[in-house]
Amino acid sequence: MTSDANILKVCTKESWQEQLQNAIRTPTDLAAAVGIALEDLPYSLAADRGFPLLVPRAFAARIERGNVADPLLRQILAAQDETRIVTGYSKDPLAETSLYAGTPGLLQKYTGRALLVVTGQCAINCRYCFRRDYPYADNAQSSAERLATIDRLLDDPSIGEIILSGGDPLLLPDEQIAAMARRIARHQRSVTLRIHTRLPMVIPERVTDSLIQALSERGLPSVMVLHSNHPNEIDAPTAHAIKSLREAGTTVLNQSVLLAGVNDKPEVLAHLSDRLFAAGALPYYIHMLDKVAGAAHFEVSEDSARRIMGELSGMRPGYLVPRLVIERPGAGSKQQLEPIYPSAR
Ligand SMILES: *Cc1c(COP(=O)(O)O)cnc(C)c1O
Ligand code: SF4
Repeated sequence: MTSDANILKVCTKESWQEQLQNAIRTPTDLAAAVGIALEDLPYSLAADRGFPLLVPRAFAARIERGNVADPLLRQILAAQDETRIVTGYSKDPLAETSLYAGTPGLLQKYTGRALLVVTGQCAINCRYCFRRDYPYADNAQSSAERLATIDRLLDDPSIGEIILSGGDPLLLPDEQIAAMARRIARHQRSVTLRIHTRLPMVIPERVTDSLIQALSERGLPSVMVLHSNHPNEIDAPTAHAIKSLREAGTTVLNQSVLLAGVNDKPEVLAHLSDRLFAAGALPYYIHMLDKVAGAAHFEVSEDSARRIMGELSGMRPGYLVPRLVIERPGAGSKQQLEPIYPSAR
């Protein structure tokens, strides 16, 4: 490439905010982007209503053109399957709405950790999401209110970690994240800041220099838990974003949800771990699907899940095998499911 072309490329690069604004939101637009005729997409308007199609182009570009069964497409397509009513699937599968004790957006379910839902917005709408019907509007806090909540948490010696969740916390402006990071870093006690996000897989440019700077605040132990389900989600720009986070001293982990038709094969999970490792991240958890209404077509049974993990354990070193966990309402932690190992030959 000539240097002129390089300059042009740099100058025309959209910011992450512009990429979000220009995201795909209609089935027609999605069909065109993935090279599938509109009538061949199993799209449903009824599924879309209330939880609309939303996918930035950088993510859509990793969907294989013409493949209706593509594992990335399956995660974002408002599909006819969602409109089926299935027993056992509900709007609030983790009974979270009853857990907010006074402070909007603050969830203290597990010892030592406080989770803040800082925004209801996401950069992508994942069809399996357990918070798809979450009452975000009731749980909004202003930036100042959030800082006050953080101050209160810092004053509680039992809290060792503050977790930002959502929605996607990386939709907050860098200044707001930096303000929280500074508050935590300057507290006399060492408290970890953890961010759970899918944005580096969706719009890698979200990992800006100012975000890196906020996370490298002196004296701040920081952890980023990425949310990636399939190796195709990790391309060169994503890997680059992960590398910059690592260079800033952030521990980078990944969690996945085990999803039928997406990643319910040990080979796919092994490949995902390889890609993560190459970029500088380690697998942390793989979650059993939360039974949220509309997501039944993603279900993998507990026995199959445990067998998949048993096989994966034989394929990769322990540090590349995530823990299979399930959330049960009312439990004191996420609960691990033991792998079922293939019988010895
Ligand atoms: C998952 C979760 C955490 C973090 O759990 P870890 O096992 O530490 O990753 C904390 N609070 C809530 C409410 C959670 O759902
Ligand atoms: S990014 Fe996370 S919170 Fe947002 S829709 Fe996807 S799974 Fe749900």
